[in-house]
Amino acid sequence: MKKLYIAGDIIEAQLLNSLLKAQGISSLIKNEGLQSGVGELPFVEMWPEVWIIEPKDWFSATCVLKSLKPPDTFEDWICGRCSVPNPGTFETCWSCRASRMID
Ligand SMILES: [Zn+2]
Repeated sequence: MKKLYIAGDIIEAQLLNSLLKAQGISSLIKNEGLQSGVGELPFVEMWPEVWIIEPKDWFSATCVLKSLKPPDTFEDWICGRCSVPNPGTFETCWSCRASRMID
């Protein structure tokens, strides 16, 4: 088994899990029940985790994950003009207003 993704909440974990199932990939969610009692659990590090059971499914699973969360959209990027780092959600540089370069 291999951990594919740590979700921000259980909804996200279940969405990814259902997409994997739709592709015929065997997966499971760990820590699924731990957020049921809101306020009872002070440990924020217990996020839901999506695990892939069969190693042969790993590549397909990463493709499903990328379709759900395109890395180009969410990773920080460095401005090509002024070299400041920008959050992945920004389409233009916050510093110099240059458009984001996709290389
Ligand atoms: Zn810039």
